[in-house]
Amino acid sequence: MAEVLKQPVPVAASGGPDVSAVVREVIADVRANGDDAVRKYSQKFDNWSPSSFRLSPAEIDKIVSAVPDGVIDDIKAVQANVRRFARAQRDSVHDFEVETEPGVFLGQKNLPIVAAGAYVPGGRYPLTASAHMTVVTAKVAGVERVTACTPPLRGEIPPATIAALHLAGADEIFVLGGVQAVAAMALGTASLSRVDLIAGPGNAYVAEAKRQLFGEVGIDLFAGPTEILVVADDNADPFIVAVDLLSQAEHGPDSPAVLITTSSSVAQRTIEHIEAILPGMPTADLAGPAWRDHGQVHVVDSLDEAYALADTFASEHVQILTDNPREALDRMRHYGALFLGEGTCVSYGDKVIGTNHVLPTRGAARYTGGLWVGKYLRTVTYQEVTSQPASASLGELCGRAARVELFEGHARSGDVRAAKYGGAPLPW
Ligand code: NAD
Repeated sequence: MAEVLKQPVPVAASGGPDVSAVVREVIADVRANGDDAVRKYSQKFDNWSPSSFRLSPAEIDKIVSAVPDGVIDDIKAVQANVRRFARAQRDSVHDFEVETEPGVFLGQKNLPIVAAGAYVPGGRYPLTASAHMTVVTAKVAGVERVTACTPPLRGEIPPATIAALHLAGADEIFVLGGVQAVAAMALGTASLSRVDLIAGPGNAYVAEAKRQLFGEVGIDLFAGPTEILVVADDNADPFIVAVDLLSQAEHGPDSPAVLITTSSSVAQRTIEHIEAILPGMPTADLAGPAWRDHGQVHVVDSLDEAYALADTFASEHVQILTDNPREALDRMRHYGALFLGEGTCVSYGDKVIGTNHVLPTRGAARYTGGLWVGKYLRTVTYQEVTSQPASASLGELCGRAARVELFEGHARSGDVRAAKYGGAPLPW
């Protein structure tokens, strides 16, 4: 019989600031006062007000040369993985042209966005990997100018993140975070030229800023606080389940970690392992509240039920720890990324393996996948009619179709071609 061993604390109980109102105020101020407002909020939220938020080439060189060689080698290795997968994605996107009838040509092209903003989070952790995910992918897509923003970490420039941005090919690097960075990239200021699309994950403020600015600027997707959902059967190793759930809970106190299992014993032992591991975790201050307030454990009667319940979460990351993990590819419909079997884990996806870690949260997986090369491309179309009889016949059809909609002007564009190429009399 299905049962819930652990439920989240109801949202109202956690309270919290009005994120949407704060974001609206910052955006309005940046819109009205540009750089001055950016500086004001950077000072207020990050205690950060350098003479220039943009790093000069000399500053970048100095920062990068101080990063240990081993770290640089690892950054290059991970970026090679991300680039390899992104290039395969680019190769999967095709321009094409089809002749739908003799002399009628319809085509599709994929044009890169010209200027993209990469938001690389860094309030709590220096999220170096987000630099690979946003900038490498944009460059593989062919984006001309990539402007990157990342916040200071406890008042310091994060060197490995700057190195990763630089090695990935960012054209401009600003040490600037939060809503003020997103607003500056979307709206433009005297010192930061506006971009056409902003991509990258972030906390609730960053995600809300992207949401409010969408329309004035393109956004990749709603990639807010991280989520993990594990589907496990009775062969899953509860120790690994526990460690993997906590790996995402440590992102922040608002990160949900959910276990759905067909085994009461796996459920119980996972909870015990989590309780044993948590106190000794250096990031327990984040993972502890995340697990306490947003952790869930569901025991269900069958894997059918497990997949169906998992789909209702549309979770960002779904890890399958069952006998036959690949069946999830056919059985599940709503997820940002799937991690099949014990050999891989969400941390591989987050940090090293090469699939993109910027993924939909809060149910957005119902309507979008994660960041990929295609998000930096605009799929546009074109048409040409080289046959006069074909144009005449389309003109007659257009005249009739447009008049049904009471569009006389549209109809006349069809009429004149039907008349010129087909000899039909003008009806007006
Ligand atoms: P962040 O860069 O997203 O946010 C830091 C900024 O938030 C600061 O620069 C500050 O200006 C602003 N801020 C903080 N408190 C504020 C307040 N009270 N009012 C206004 N602005 C405020 O870094 P972070 O906080 O470490 O969060 C990173 C987030 O990214 C985590 O939630 C993590 O789960 C998420 N993430 C998501 C994905 C995904 O693909 N969905 C991937 C990686 C990380």
